[in-house]
Amino acid sequence: MNILGLDDDELISCVGCGLCLPHCPTYRVTGLEIASPRGRIAAMRAVETGVAPIDAPFVDAMQECVQCRGCEAACPSGVPFGHLMEDTRAALELNAASRPTALAARVRRGLEWIGYRVVLPNHRVLIALSWLLLVAQRLHLVPKRFGPQRFGPPLLTRSSLMTKLDVSSGALGDAWLFTGCVMDAWQRPTHLAALQVLQATGLRVAVPGRGGDCCGALHEHAGRRAEAQHLARKVMQSMPGDAPIVVDSAGCGAALKQYGRLLGTEAATDFSRRVFDFSEFVVQRGVPATRATGRTVVVQDPCHLRHVQKSHMAVRSLLSDGYELVDTDDDGLCCGAGGAYSVLQPDLSREIAMRKSAALRAAGADRPGVLVCSANPGCAMQLTQAGFSVQHPAELLRDALKEGPR
Ligand code: SF4
Ligand code: SF4
Repeated sequence: MNILGLDDDELISCVGCGLCLPHCPTYRVTGLEIASPRGRIAAMRAVETGVAPIDAPFVDAMQECVQCRGCEAACPSGVPFGHLMEDTRAALELNAASRPTALAARVRRGLEWIGYRVVLPNHRVLIALSWLLLVAQRLHLVPKRFGPQRFGPPLLTRSSLMTKLDVSSGALGDAWLFTGCVMDAWQRPTHLAALQVLQATGLRVAVPGRGGDCCGALHEHAGRRAEAQHLARKVMQSMPGDAPIVVDSAGCGAALKQYGRLLGTEAATDFSRRVFDFSEFVVQRGVPATRATGRTVVVQDPCHLRHVQKSHMAVRSLLSDGYELVDTDDDGLCCGAGGAYSVLQPDLSREIAMRKSAALRAAGADRPGVLVCSANPGCAMQLTQAGFSVQHPAELLRDALKEGPR
């Protein structure tokens, strides 16, 4: 039997040693084997071989995984947990789509369809909805976790940014800055800082042309593979040529770097080779001269930067001249943001965030004047909501440039 369509070699590679368990945020919170990587893999095996059905406890165990891949980084046997979970989610999504369900589940699926199919891939719709959410938040009609929170109002067009910085859309430059969906709507000041730093290194930067609105990472996490593949093709078309692609969102960067696997084509693999995280790219190119700011920054490693891209050390090289950097002592444990996880699994997400907050406080992140650095928009929102002063590495570097931004 091959009910979930998983790779047999990947599935049997887990030897059950349990060394991944302390690195799993859901196991740390619940203490339950089924909420651990080892337990989830055992459950996948049971379903895949027909020993157990796809039932509600199985679906819950898969949905409660943050997909942080902390387990993958800790595993001495090299179990590719991310592949197993992504393929399982894709199988569950197909299974759910083909089964009649109760009304509440159908309503939920309808709302998800609107979010994934209508809102995220259409920037104008996302911006309009962001304004509505902002107003609803101000009127206390929706919780703060559903929206832009403290990141200020969404911006209606890209034109002011591009005019100010002489950035072209869809035209070839020395490098592309991928702008994405939620980040471009809610955290555009980070893009502004990234553009200013890239220009300070002497580059002509372009932003994606038509179709490059969403990388599909959230779709792939949710198991909506066909939609993720469709968006990936559009993103590839929006940034033609050979120029490097710089990404200032760790989650989007991880997704773009995995287009080769997602699409299974040589063109997608070649495209992925052009993708760099912002800090990784600037360090490779040469960090512009910075001044010592005298400020302390506690570094938070987004899971998709640390465990998937494995490029988290570049942030330290980027900022070490300008700031006193402090690491947390939790081995990069997840903050619980996980794409849409904080919305879909709010209780678990909150519990995981509390542990991350404790680690940040132990590193002094709650002291007056101390900043937290995060390279992922979801983590930044989660930690801001927890009360920390969060900035992106691009903003920190821009503020420490000796010459100042252009
Ligand atoms: S996933 Fe890796 S670390 Fe975890 S139990 Fe399996 S073999 Fe051990
Ligand atoms: S991906 Fe993260 S949450 Fe999921 S099993 Fe691995 S460590 Fe746990």
